[in-house]
Amino acid sequence: MAQKGDEFLFIDRIKNLFADIDNKECKGIGDDCATIPISPDSSLVVTSDMLNEGVHFIRSAIPAFDLGYKSLAVNLSDIAAMGAEPIASFLSIGFSKEIPALWRDEFMAGYHSLSKEFGVALLGGDTTSTTGGISINVTAIGRAKSSHIKLRSAANIGQDIYVSGTLGDSGVGLQMILNGRWHQREMIDAHHRPRPYVNEGVWLGEREEVGAMIDISDGVASDLRHILRLSGVGAIIDNIPTSQIMDRACKEYNLNREHLALSAGEDYRLLFTVDREQSEQLADSYKKQFGYAPYKIGHITAGNELLLVDTPLDYFGYIHD
Ligand code: ADP
Ligand code: MG
Repeated sequence: MAQKGDEFLFIDRIKNLFADIDNKECKGIGDDCATIPISPDSSLVVTSDMLNEGVHFIRSAIPAFDLGYKSLAVNLSDIAAMGAEPIASFLSIGFSKEIPALWRDEFMAGYHSLSKEFGVALLGGDTTSTTGGISINVTAIGRAKSSHIKLRSAANIGQDIYVSGTLGDSGVGLQMILNGRWHQREMIDAHHRPRPYVNEGVWLGEREEVGAMIDISDGVASDLRHILRLSGVGAIIDNIPTSQIMDRACKEYNLNREHLALSAGEDYRLLFTVDREQSEQLADSYKKQFGYAPYKIGHITAGNELLLVDTPLDYFGYIHD
């Protein structure tokens, strides 16, 4: 696709085309994962993501191990964003002929290390060749009590908006990679090895005071807008949490901190809304549980606008379809 906008129009057309087929209680197309009820009170959630060489990654810039890790991480992040626990994945991969066996093994070692960390079985996939470049498709499956599943459409006016970590580290990391500043390890690692918030996602799923949830793949400027559109609400962002190391890099290289934090994407933090009366208490118990606090970035309002303090936000997230 040429642009993210085109991609969304295409997905809408796909959804309309398939509206004539009974979905048999399943829900799909439009959230981080599809949901498939498997018993009166539990569901499977399923997500699928594709990474193409030259579009989503530059092979010479990312170690094979990290790419294997990241290919699964972005899918576990979508499972977490539903409030579900990951159980298994499928991996389909197309290699061009010049990819050495060692590269393939390193890729799988990275994929395995994250699978092992969260006990996610690899249940199948496909291995094939391409006429050029590497193409990776991962499908991940999770499960949750149906009442714990957090949808993008569940934000309510007055709720506070939180993110599970600082914003923009990955985007600055990408800038460092593109400019060959390899000594900026921490931010480059944030870009290459995004940590999926697996345990946090399950924990947040269990909390009734949590409304909508999404993971930040394209940047808050795009991903929060998905919540606003599907929930029929607006939002004000009044705090943009960034790491000290990101702040320093932005000063040193004259980068736009706010713009990168809200639109560069690939942070894979969880963004979630919480009933205002319980939000401080939730942030406290989150901190007790995980050893760090989530960041409040704003709140949900009536209407449909996204404001940065008092000005409409006039840009979107990263276009990397
Ligand atoms: P995310 O960033 O959370 O992975 P995307 O923006 O990639 O979500 O996709 C938005 C929604 O559209 C998801 O529910 C996804 O499953 C669905 N979708 C994307 N491409 C297709 C496709 N080719 N066919 C069916 N559904 C699709
Ligand atoms: Mg997502």
